[in-house]
Amino acid sequence: MGSGGRATQTDNSGNKVVKRAPSSKPPFTLSDIKKAIPPHCFNRSLLRSSSYLFVDLFFSFFFYYVASTYIIHLPTPLSYVAWVVYWILQGSVQMGLWVIGHECGHQAFSDYTWLNDTIGYFLHTSLLAPYFSWKYSHRRHHSNTASLEHDESFVPKKKSSLNSFARLLNTPPGRLFRLVILCTVGWLLYVCFNVSGRKYEKFANHFDPKSPIYSDRERLQILVTDIGLVVVSFGLYKVALAQGLTWLVLVYFAPLVIVYGFLVVITLVASHSRITSPLRLH
Ligand SMILES: [Zn+2]
Repeated sequence: MGSGGRATQTDNSGNKVVKRAPSSKPPFTLSDIKKAIPPHCFNRSLLRSSSYLFVDLFFSFFFYYVASTYIIHLPTPLSYVAWVVYWILQGSVQMGLWVIGHECGHQAFSDYTWLNDTIGYFLHTSLLAPYFSWKYSHRRHHSNTASLEHDESFVPKKKSSLNSFARLLNTPPGRLFRLVILCTVGWLLYVCFNVSGRKYEKFANHFDPKSPIYSDRERLQILVTDIGLVVVSFGLYKVALAQGLTWLVLVYFAPLVIVYGFLVVITLVASHSRITSPLRLH
């Protein structure tokens, strides 16, 4: 990697160790990388994208059918095992649907903006995700990844700014605790309270059209996002009245926890693969 590689030094035992994160510019540009990728990889195929969508929708409905028709009537303890298997399978397939919604937000699903946004909006809203709100903050995350000032999520911290609680979280039990919180409610904490997000002058979240995350041009779509989430929430409320809250938790909310656990792990790993441990930054 030439001059863009890591600076190494030798420790007391004679081993070569990386002393700091690479900070100089790499010996290649973004356009060099783009030129190295075959041009056909940049062609968006509606047919191919749709095939992924239909396969995932098929399996999601299939698992839902099996759960609501058979697993719901299984005796214990067999049902305990069956439900866990259902949550993992359904959560994995729905993660696929969530990722298709993410691709729609990047306009990668097809050549048609209106189609990408429509499909992304329905997919993410049905999984209780704020489509347009996240699309905009996520786009800025991509263009500012690992920036201490401008990244939108998993913003790296300066060592000098870490307090004793942050240092406690960097111990093995602390990391385990952080991982459990991240994988269960991490997504909710981020979109509702901007936890681990970029620091703004005033309170920021993904549901307030006046949130400082968004520009004036984007605010109307944040409202459209909210309306979709209210409609889906009302639908879920009606389902809970008809089928019972337990049914709804078993069939809908438990797989959703898997989806958001996956999401946090994917984005955390992707973000941290581009930076070193925050504790090494000065
Ligand atoms: Zn992305």
